[in-house]
Amino acid sequence: MFPTHSTAALEALAEFLPRAGKEYAATRNFDAGPGQRKNVSMLSSWVRLRSLPEWTICREVLGQHSAQEAAKFIDEVCWRTYWKGWLESRPRVWADYQQALSKARATHAVKPQYLKLVEGASGIDCMDAWTRELLTTGYLHNHARMWFASIWIHTLGLPWSLGADFFLRHLLDGDAAANTLSWRWVAGLHTQGKSYLATNDNIRKHTNGRFVVNLDLAEEPIELAGEPVNPPATEIRALPELPQDGRIGLLLHEDDLSAADWLAEQIPITRTAAHLPETAYAKHGIAESVLNFRRAHLRARLDDTTTYCPSIDSVLTWAGEADLQHIVMAQPFVGIWDTVTPALRQALEKDGRQLSLAQHWWDRHFFPHAKRGFFPFKKAIPAALERI
Ligand SMILES: Cc1cc2nc3c(=O)[nH]c(=O)nc-3n(C[C@H](O)[C@H](O)[C@H](O)COP(=O)(O)OP(=O)(O)OC[C@H]3O[C@@H](n4cnc5c(N)ncnc54)[C@H](O)[C@@H]3O)c2cc1C
Repeated sequence: MFPTHSTAALEALAEFLPRAGKEYAATRNFDAGPGQRKNVSMLSSWVRLRSLPEWTICREVLGQHSAQEAAKFIDEVCWRTYWKGWLESRPRVWADYQQALSKARATHAVKPQYLKLVEGASGIDCMDAWTRELLTTGYLHNHARMWFASIWIHTLGLPWSLGADFFLRHLLDGDAAANTLSWRWVAGLHTQGKSYLATNDNIRKHTNGRFVVNLDLAEEPIELAGEPVNPPATEIRALPELPQDGRIGLLLHEDDLSAADWLAEQIPITRTAAHLPETAYAKHGIAESVLNFRRAHLRARLDDTTTYCPSIDSVLTWAGEADLQHIVMAQPFVGIWDTVTPALRQALEKDGRQLSLAQHWWDRHFFPHAKRGFFPFKKAIPAALERI
């Protein structure tokens, strides 16, 4: 369903573009089921890797639609940037989530209710169908994600962190920011006092009657006592200048494959490698299907002169063999890389090599606006669109 060859994302975008205007705005909330999803782009697994970056999508969409017609689609693309920016200035939210998750694993992940849900054998028709779809395809429609999370949290009373973890491990587009913060939003933690409650009518209407929920859905949100509130936003520090001479290696990774283009334009590159931190993925329990998709994508980016590095040791070997002085990479976002970047830096420095990080202008432009809600953030969109 989601091919990994190097032009797959652009081909999928080209196919969707004619529908990205008014048609998307009018129909995007409907989930007619697997194989019936022409109303949404299904681009997220490629956008997650930035093998299809946000600025490319917006530029192509505006080539076929007016800004007004494409406004809804562009807003949705920018929601991703908003979540990423919000988490960058509050990295503690990811750390708190990891802590909550280990507690929830101990208390709930052994219970039959949880085990049946994640196997798709709970007896709740819609939940089982969505679970099966997630496990077999790695994708769920946005509305299905909202309904699933709402039923999980508010009706079944399960910890939101366990549900977020289930999604992160199996979604091909699984993303620390979009996923954690969307689950928090459904739970009522993102905007204090505002949660998302799924209703039977809404599910029936937007699935074209595929599901009539065989369960009484919660009519009131669950009280989440003891959950940490949103910490204040911290300043995102500017990154040091990039090296401009010496032997420089470009390290591509799955948080931003587009760095192969934008970073290579900024500095003279001696050698390129691609790294997927497979050990960190294993620690987070990320499914083989997700790992395979991302690995295949990274490999599709490689030519004969580029090396695939599955571990920090293999990055060190590559850097040593190429006699590199500096390694440059796109700054990974808050999430799985939180433990990888310091370990990588330390290992490279031990070998006498420097690690430098860089950020695309899109992130530098948007992230300072992502400290509050989406609506103030949205005001930064027109200036970005003028630049693409
Ligand atoms: C509980 C929950 C968990 C989620 N987890 C993830 C996740 O791990 N990774 C992820 O990329 N998205 C996540 N989302 C957001 C959204 O559901 C998906 O991005 C979207 O469904 C992807 O399908 P699409 O490509 O067909 O989207 P389209 O509707 O075609 O949108 C185009 C692109 O815009 C971006 N986008 C659209 N809606 C959102 C949104 N609400 N938040 C952030 N980006 C958006 C995606 O990159 C998407 O590919 C989650 C939403 C919820 C409610």
